[in-house]
Amino acid sequence: MQLRAPRGTNDLLPASAQAFDFLEQAAHRVFSRYGYRLVETPLFESTEVFVRGIGEATDVVGKEMFSVLSPQALARLCDGSAPKADEQLTLRPEGTAGVARAVVEHGLAASGAAPAKLWYRGSMFRHERPQKGRLRQFHQIGAECIGAASPSADAEAIIMLMRFFEEAGLASSLLRLLVNSMGDENCRPAFREEVRAFILEAADGLCDECRRRADTNPLRAFDCKSPTCKEVMAAAPRITERLCDECAGHYEAVKARLDAAGIVYEEQPLLVRGLDYYTRTVFEVQVDVGLGAQNAIGGGGRYDGLIAQFGGKPTPGLGFAVGLERIVLALEASGGIPVSPLAPQLFVAAVDADSRAAAFALACRLRDAGMRVELDHQDRSLKSQFKLADKSAAPWVAVIGPNELTVGSATLRSMSEGAEQQVRLDATEDFARIVNTMKEGL
Ligand SMILES: [Zn+2]
Ligand SMILES: [Zn+2]
Repeated sequence: MQLRAPRGTNDLLPASAQAFDFLEQAAHRVFSRYGYRLVETPLFESTEVFVRGIGEATDVVGKEMFSVLSPQALARLCDGSAPKADEQLTLRPEGTAGVARAVVEHGLAASGAAPAKLWYRGSMFRHERPQKGRLRQFHQIGAECIGAASPSADAEAIIMLMRFFEEAGLASSLLRLLVNSMGDENCRPAFREEVRAFILEAADGLCDECRRRADTNPLRAFDCKSPTCKEVMAAAPRITERLCDECAGHYEAVKARLDAAGIVYEEQPLLVRGLDYYTRTVFEVQVDVGLGAQNAIGGGGRYDGLIAQFGGKPTPGLGFAVGLERIVLALEASGGIPVSPLAPQLFVAAVDADSRAAAFALACRLRDAGMRVELDHQDRSLKSQFKLADKSAAPWVAVIGPNELTVGSATLRSMSEGAEQQVRLDATEDFARIVNTMKEGL
């Protein structure tokens, strides 16, 4: 039987892996300008981290988590007893919960200290029904700012996110930034009751899931993907008309700072995140190309209630996450990924068996000097080495044979023009000069 990658997973072959790497580099460049620093938390955490950090009433926690079992826990399960609390582990379905857990555990956002501004990248895991655009292992980049309550932190994160997309090659004309405020513990409970009443009234037009949400988490009905639910919910009460003075002031200040930075956005009063710890600012970025109806490529919001759920002192925070698979689809649809294929700059070819050692040594020296150099490892003929060089897209071939060894040089041939010149084998800087005149990535 031929072995295959598990359902819902993708091998990131070199082209995809390089595209992801390109996006991570772009994030690194942009986020560091804003004082965000890279953090890496474990790929799995106590299940409790996600129960607290995402919420039990969500699909993610209720249906989609991959559990990790140690051999001991598995044995206990098979014996019919429950795994111990510290044996209940889960692969991370998103990045925020683990970062929030780490911030509390290491005291990174102590009161009085500057906020912890952290970003992460990597694989996330959800046991979803495999379908187009839904993977069981997918990749995200995200950022969290924990410890700052001011609307300027919200605006900074949103601006940073938009600059990241631009740096990645998505023109701002292709992007739509939606913003909203979800209120806080002062103004939202009454709003939630209003939405619950609305759902019960409009129940006939809503899906089963949304009807159930009236009892569990009415605001999640705004997230429902069903077109009929969307239509019904469009007439629901709007949070922006119910904000308390503090929340309204915060929202105005965020928008004023976005305006001042020249960031174009749309206010979207139906943009609501169903999790209790989201407060005030929420945002989402949609793209016009490559993704069809499910066109969100990133989003986030303020979550002033989250840190307290991890046993920390109440600490304001906010963050966002973007999906790399989706950004790559959008980039491909909008004209490709500006990534150098990193072809070798030079191919070293040996004329006969006696020249191979010298060819190998030359390749090693040139690589040590920083050049991308390839050579044959299959004892090919000279003719077939040239074919290989051509296929690898190397613009130069250095040929070493008996004649070259006698005079201590290589014959350097331009693959595009066929012109040849002699370069001394020990003149590494001459190779570098000639090879580097070619444009990067050719
Ligand atoms: Zn629905
Ligand atoms: Zn409020």
